[in-house]
Amino acid sequence: MTERIFNFSAGPSMLPVPVLERAAAEMLNYQGSGMSVMEMSHRSKVYDSIIKSTEASLRRVMGIPDNYKVLFLQGGATMQFSAIPLNLMRTGKADYALTGNFAKNAYKEAKKFGEIHVAASSEADNFSYIPSQAELDLSPDADYFYHCANNTIFGTEWKYCPETGSVPVVADMSSNILSKPIDVSKYGVIMAGAQKNMGPAGLTVVIVRDDLLGYYPQDKMPVLLDWKLMADKESMYNTPPTYAIYVLGLVLDWIENEIGGLTEMQKRNEVKAKLLYDYLDSQSFYQPAARADSRSMMNVTFRTGDADLDAKFVKASIENGMSNLKGHRSVGGMRASIYNAMPYEGVEKLVDFMQKFAKENG
Ligand code: PMP
Repeated sequence: MTERIFNFSAGPSMLPVPVLERAAAEMLNYQGSGMSVMEMSHRSKVYDSIIKSTEASLRRVMGIPDNYKVLFLQGGATMQFSAIPLNLMRTGKADYALTGNFAKNAYKEAKKFGEIHVAASSEADNFSYIPSQAELDLSPDADYFYHCANNTIFGTEWKYCPETGSVPVVADMSSNILSKPIDVSKYGVIMAGAQKNMGPAGLTVVIVRDDLLGYYPQDKMPVLLDWKLMADKESMYNTPPTYAIYVLGLVLDWIENEIGGLTEMQKRNEVKAKLLYDYLDSQSFYQPAARADSRSMMNVTFRTGDADLDAKFVKASIENGMSNLKGHRSVGGMRASIYNAMPYEGVEKLVDFMQKFAKENG
């Protein structure tokens, strides 16, 4: 294989070609330092400027207010499933909305540390929709409200930030961060694994409001889960995922300078998602898996209704230069992850292929 293919992987997933090209150009000798970013001490002057400028770019691109800390951590989004209750529980009560596999994993983990109330669940409908504000059963005395902003496996996305009064809203944005502008000030905590829209796996970003830090008895907190400690040490208590942070910086440069920021990013993502959903709505060979009002702009799930035909589709798509279209086993069918780096042409090619496949197999 000499050509790049359209990779619809749910994550790790495609990165913008200009980012990969810049990383390649800077691989052997980063800006005259005589070494790769991978080989640098995280405490060196040159690396210090990389991590600081990456944080500054993230703050600019997302509009992160000054009273929020930005942490660059390891351990994946899953490690934050434990860190969230450990850092935020004061009375030991929290509300969780269960809208998919990862929300459930977060819930199971939180149950080890406190009393968790299920504020909403779409499990009875195989997580095919997002509850409305009116459907949320919120506890006014919860330490926080947790939700997964985009459900990677099921292809559903919260179109609103829940109103919870004074209860801080926590969001797992692993699969939709940087896909559109958001009002960070509505959230207490935003966390995201990097491996979809931000960069390579190994980095997890936590954005946390100042006043939520430091309540947990510090002597019982594992150091690597301690947001206050990590904030005080500027993510350098131990070695941070140095190369992934550098690549995030390149991705942010691309969003800011080549795309034109998150408003423009959103427009592009909407056009791509619309192409695919409009096609799905125009025919009956494939059925979309998510309810129309809950559809994700990043992960599009659909099936033919016949497992053998789905398998044939996936096989044929690979032969046609598209990879990773097989859906997660809990949904079946197909899933096209169309993150920021997926070009319009990739979605166009997919829709053309879907039409052809439907004609030949319908
Ligand atoms: N949350 C969401 C929304 C995800 O898509 C994933 C999978 N990437 C996770 C959490 C788990 O992430 P990680 O593998 O980084 O722990």
